[in-house]
Amino acid sequence: MGRIRALPVHVVNQIAAGEVVDRPASVVKELVENALDAGARRIEVRLTEGGKARIEVRDDGCGMDPDDLAAAFLPHATSKLASVEDLDHIASLGFRGEALASIGSVSRATITSRPAGAATGGFVEDREGALSEVRPAAAAPGTVIVVEGLFAGVPARRKFLRTSATELGHVVDTLERFALSFPEAVFLVEHEGRPVVTTAAGEGRRARIGRFHGDDLARSLLEARSADDAPVHVEAYLSPPGVTRGDARLQQVYVNGRYVRDRTVGHALREAYRDLVPPGDRQPVVFLFLTCDPARVDVNVHPTKAEVRWRDPAVVHETVRRTLRAALEGARPGVDVGAAATGARPSTLEAAEFAFLHGVGGQGAGREARWGAGAPGSAWGGGGATAFPPAPAHGHDPAHPHDHAHDPAHAPAHDHAHPHGGAVGARERLRPVGQVLTTYLVLESEDGLVIVDQHALHERVLFDRISDRLRTGALEVQHLLVPAVVTLSRAEAARIHEERELIAKLGWEVEAFGDDAVAVRAVPAVLRRPDPEGLLHELLALLESGRREGLDRAALLSAVVDRMACRGAVMAGDPLHPDEVLALLAQAEALNHAHSCPHGRPTRLAMTRRDLERYFHR
Ligand code: ADP
Ligand code: MG
Repeated sequence: MGRIRALPVHVVNQIAAGEVVDRPASVVKELVENALDAGARRIEVRLTEGGKARIEVRDDGCGMDPDDLAAAFLPHATSKLASVEDLDHIASLGFRGEALASIGSVSRATITSRPAGAATGGFVEDREGALSEVRPAAAAPGTVIVVEGLFAGVPARRKFLRTSATELGHVVDTLERFALSFPEAVFLVEHEGRPVVTTAAGEGRRARIGRFHGDDLARSLLEARSADDAPVHVEAYLSPPGVTRGDARLQQVYVNGRYVRDRTVGHALREAYRDLVPPGDRQPVVFLFLTCDPARVDVNVHPTKAEVRWRDPAVVHETVRRTLRAALEGARPGVDVGAAATGARPSTLEAAEFAFLHGVGGQGAGREARWGAGAPGSAWGGGGATAFPPAPAHGHDPAHPHDHAHDPAHAPAHDHAHPHGGAVGARERLRPVGQVLTTYLVLESEDGLVIVDQHALHERVLFDRISDRLRTGALEVQHLLVPAVVTLSRAEAARIHEERELIAKLGWEVEAFGDDAVAVRAVPAVLRRPDPEGLLHELLALLESGRREGLDRAALLSAVVDRMACRGAVMAGDPLHPDEVLALLAQAEALNHAHSCPHGRPTRLAMTRRDLERYFHR
């Protein structure tokens, strides 16, 4: 007797369902795709228990007549594809005809639908694979699909569902992506009777980005569009060079309406920002909408259609990179391509900001007065690093004896450099000479030359200042003119609640704003950068990882202060005005450990007159 049997159809469907639906959000995704394919302009999603108990999707699309209703739940039944050639140019979101069959096999699903012109509607039900007859039913034009008891009959899958809040979070993420991708449609999500996503007719993508990710962020984004004749049309909303996040969640790519993950486009995006984001793992924010002839892209490569394959990846890569890069360069008039490519970029620390932090006047600190900007490598040539305030009298003394001049044993300069040679500026008279490679400050000391790593030193200054303040009280706050509403994940919301005292002490004024957002009223003054949202996410991520790694309070606090110092400090690549340099040196004077940054890297390198003389055999 043979042991091999063909599986019953409903078991085949249940197995197939695992590929298409794994949680309420994927059911919602399939149903909303169907609604959009049906031409809907208004889509309402209602959930109970995060969708685990009940999902309802209602649309005003073309509807289904009784024949369609009879076929809708059948496997491989679709109105969107007729022949294998059609696969080469799919313009609809769905095409495989397996979503409804899969969903019906693992839940109790009903469809009530009425085509626009029809007098009445129809109703059909699929109870875990058992199909009902189509019956007449009262219905508004359009379609309502209700899915109850998802995976109730498949305990192995049911147990992978998370809390209602988590499942709801995934549904909300899914709907926000649809809402960005299809700005011409109105989307609504209600959870247990309360609206959790709302959108309005006639608002554009930028307004929707503002709704979901904060108005401040939305306002700060640049806009980029490819040339009219580009092979792939690009529309992008992207952060200017100074605005970044601690993770890549706000890098979203849509291809012909689908939200996808795509390595080609991801790489092009990183290339566009090359040398424009700070070192480390900071990520720009980019919402990228690509449209092209469906023949250019294969969407039939992934079960949930989350990936695509380009027929010509190089063309896509270059179009995306070039379009974004042009917008980024255009955003900062005065930075030429060459300068950007070699790492020079305009200061992200504005003059007023610096003046605020360091108590110096902003006078003369306009960009045009910055020294050495845009001219790395030519610092000692004409017009590069301009010498500034007249050299004090203690300059080179021609009468100075040439002792040790010919002592070959003392020749190599690095033998005599003193990377840890005492506190920068401590009672030392230093004359700024210039900034080289927009990273190092060159100073003349009373007895030679000092080179300072601007980021390392500023970081050290801020680290000490913040630590001091925290020992005696709370950090200074900077109130925002308009509170920034920041949407939080469940984990972040939990962290903000648990750590509210610490967060307040660090200079944040944050209050609950609905269920999954907070309004930020003030940020730490030391972090006066235009990105409260990004910085709050970063802080919460840090607290979360500290908690996971079981850091004690002191270690956690030190990690937080460390990060704040890093975020507040000028970066390598920031052009500095001479006034800013002087202010920085004045700050450093008061420190005990100015010779190293909080990570232990040296902040300075000193060469005495003797070192120089030995080197040059004078
Ligand atoms: P696919 O979307 O791949 O065609 P589905 O199983 O998702 O497969 O849907 C099967 C068919 O049911 C679709 O091709 C479409 O004709 C019809 N359909 C599903 N949902 C709707 C809807 N909301 N409005 C109109 N027709 C729908
Ligand atoms: Mg479908």
